[in-house]
Amino acid sequence: MQKPTEANFVGTTTSQTHSSSLSPCLTPGDKHDRRLLANVHPPDWVNPIPDGRYNLVVIGGGSAGLVAAAGAAGLGAKVALVEKHLLGGDCLNVGCVPSKSLIRSARVFGDLALASDLGVMVPDAVTLDFGVVMERVRGLRAEISEHDSAQRFADLGVDIFLGEGRFIGPEQIEVAGQVLDFKKALIATGSRPMRLPIQGLEQVGYLTNESIFELRELPRRLAVIGAGPIGAELAQAFRRFGSELILFDMMPRVLGREDQQAAAIIQQTFRDEGIVMALGSRINQVLLTERGRVIQYAVDGARKEVVVDAILVAAGRTPNVESLNLEAAGVTYHDKGIIVDDGLCSANPNIFAAGDVALKHQFTHMADATARIVLQNALFPGPRKKLSDLVVPWSTYTDPEVAHVGIDPQEAEEAGPAVETFVQAMADVDRGRTDGETGGFVKIHVRRGSDQILGATIVARHAGEMINELTLAMATGTGLKKLAGVIHPYPTQSEAIKKVADQYNRTRLTPRVKSIFRHWLAWRR
Ligand SMILES: Cc1cc2nc3c(=O)[nH]c(=O)nc-3n(C[C@H](O)[C@H](O)[C@H](O)COP(=O)(O)OP(=O)(O)OC[C@H]3O[C@@H](n4cnc5c(N)ncnc54)[C@H](O)[C@@H]3O)c2cc1C
Repeated sequence: MQKPTEANFVGTTTSQTHSSSLSPCLTPGDKHDRRLLANVHPPDWVNPIPDGRYNLVVIGGGSAGLVAAAGAAGLGAKVALVEKHLLGGDCLNVGCVPSKSLIRSARVFGDLALASDLGVMVPDAVTLDFGVVMERVRGLRAEISEHDSAQRFADLGVDIFLGEGRFIGPEQIEVAGQVLDFKKALIATGSRPMRLPIQGLEQVGYLTNESIFELRELPRRLAVIGAGPIGAELAQAFRRFGSELILFDMMPRVLGREDQQAAAIIQQTFRDEGIVMALGSRINQVLLTERGRVIQYAVDGARKEVVVDAILVAAGRTPNVESLNLEAAGVTYHDKGIIVDDGLCSANPNIFAAGDVALKHQFTHMADATARIVLQNALFPGPRKKLSDLVVPWSTYTDPEVAHVGIDPQEAEEAGPAVETFVQAMADVDRGRTDGETGGFVKIHVRRGSDQILGATIVARHAGEMINELTLAMATGTGLKKLAGVIHPYPTQSEAIKKVADQYNRTRLTPRVKSIFRHWLAWRR
């Protein structure tokens, strides 16, 4: 295995900021990337002439911006969408789509590790063709990009302006030398990988989610900095492909925001799969030597170093606000992004924000959900939709997956007697056993004294699918008691949810109720 090419690294070689250049996330000349580009940033695109005052101008053509633009155009509004880089934003180009495509290949290795337990003897010499894996990633991305293409949105009636947008007043945006007047505007400029103040890191060069999907060769030794969802998912995938992997985080555990029990399962899985974990560590310096990239760090009071071929930085996100000239529009912001109220309106009553640039929960489905709130609040009179009314699920696509909805795991742990928690181990669910996937659980929190579901965490191979039942229950006000009466096909892993509901119902049978029932049955004999 060779080192990835220097061109893939940010740091000295390429700029980390969103620039007008389309590198480093695309490879010039690659047929899939050419197809992608033809869809999401056509080289021959000519911006339209602005057509009077727009009902809505959207800055940023990622998940939030596209949903808002399509929705507004569908309602008959006059809409302009401004995108400086690639339509589809992070999710399509350098986020969900490529990472989940890559993870699918890595999952095969997870199955192979289980194969002999299942009676399937796999020859030792199973090999990886990393080139094929990555070509599949780029191919899928290009295929899916049809959906987000400039032409498709133009056909929907959206005026597409390619170029960097910036405010030049409270009701005007400038892009590529043209001025767009608006009644309402939406800032949906997303986020980018956070830069880390580690000595030597910029000089040595590193990968981020913006460059890793263009790798052509598997790094033999890879360090991942950041054990949150993005770092954890990619660390496991690259380890399964065969990279020697060291995972760094300042926090003492992986997936720091998740339920502790869930994180412990993932941590043990990583350990079993051979990921070296430097948790609770502090990186002091990074050096480029003949041996490779040397990371000097401190953990548990000891000074250590490790030599790797590549470093992936996945340690948080920075909102894209700097280039927008927000002062000219009277929009306020801080280091977490645009400051908005519960209706997603900024300090300027005509300017809203949605997606990563304004949210704590930085997910594609939240970009989508918040864009819909903005559509309602910006374009319609009447009652405003509220961010705080949303029931928010998320899923981390490690193997097993960790999915969560509702009350923050930490909040649930700290709530004490106000919250009652029920847990079902997957080891006692028949389908968990038949699948050989017994390591997870379903945990549901209810308000004490009622069956109102406040939140849940699931660890299971397809936890991201299973969580939807609980999200629906929460969104529709369906209590846990009712879920016991919902027929779940046997055998499915989702039966774990019904078993939790059964547990809940059993706790409602007080000794008095049980005694009355026993007497009644005896009388009927
Ligand atoms: C590796 C990775 C994996 C992920 N996996 C998942 C997942 O599995 N599930 C999930 O729900 N979420 C996932 N996410 C998060 C998800 O990608 C983001 O939450 C989502 O893309 C946010 O959408 P957005 O529209 O807010 O911003 P973005 O998608 O970032 O779009 C913002 C757009 O604005 C443009 N822009 C910025 N400034 C300007 C300007 N001044 N003028 C014009 N255009 C501008 C940018 O070029 C960009 O195209 C992942 C993220 C990463 C990095």
